[in-house]
Amino acid sequence: MSKLLEGKSALVTGAGSGIGRATALAMAREGAWVACADLSLDNAKQTLKRMEAAGGQGVAIQVDVTDEDSVKAMVAATVDAFGGLDIAFNNAGIAGHQAGPSGLKLADVSLEQFNAVMAVNLTGVFLCLKHEVQEMRRRGAGAIVNTASIAGLLGLRTGNAYPASKHAVIGLTKTAAADHADEHIRVNAICPGYIETPMTEESRERHGNRIIARVPMSRFGEPEEIAEAVVFLCSDRASFVTGSAWTADGGYSAL
Ligand code: NAP
Repeated sequence: MSKLLEGKSALVTGAGSGIGRATALAMAREGAWVACADLSLDNAKQTLKRMEAAGGQGVAIQVDVTDEDSVKAMVAATVDAFGGLDIAFNNAGIAGHQAGPSGLKLADVSLEQFNAVMAVNLTGVFLCLKHEVQEMRRRGAGAIVNTASIAGLLGLRTGNAYPASKHAVIGLTKTAAADHADEHIRVNAICPGYIETPMTEESRERHGNRIIARVPMSRFGEPEEIAEAVVFLCSDRASFVTGSAWTADGGYSAL
């Protein structure tokens, strides 16, 4: 069977861990050259090492998605390495508890913590999308997937700024899809449910059974299960799919 992303140039943020790492590896398996970008260059290099061990090709790049100069440099480094940009997965994100105290009700959240979450999850996606689209225009086509969440569709108790940021990612995705459709650039969002990654370690330990009880498939998802959906959305097989928010959540949001 032919590979889904053969010869494509790809960029993945948050590629040093969890869903981003699994997706970078899946894209390389499907024939893409992959720029693995992360706040931690060491973690991005670890992903690259695994990719190369499996026969894939890529580069590792340090980026802070909240910083426009850093994002511009990341896109430029990808284009330098591969000659252009065809697909991008804007996936770097943080939960509320990674920016301050956890378990707070919304009215008890500081502006600093709120802004820190929005800076990575929303402004970061905007900055990446902006500079990626500017590069994809030169190619005359492109496909982008942004990581939202089921918290982009539903509220979440003590979710801090996280649900607001993920709802906004879906709004951004729909607007970008409409704005750039005539430039042959597709933009979609993926909405994972609860996935086994470092981000959910704390909630899995504290109330894992309660979460699983609400999932029709009665389990957490694996990062690789999100990666497969993202690969599809980035591939030409999804040629008429744009502006959508795809759930991959074991049925969580169906109830
Ligand atoms: P993860 O394992 O913690 O991975 C997140 C990655 O993003 C980390 O490598 C992190 O780097 C990186 N990152 C954080 N801030 C960054 C910044 N300013 N610039 C560049 N990279 C940055 O978590 P994950 O679960 O794979 O999450 C990936 C995405 O999926 C996030 O957008 C998350 O909101 C979303 N999501 C996750 C779940 C879930 O259940 N796991 C569900 C729905 C949506 P460092 O480790 O170096 O900080």
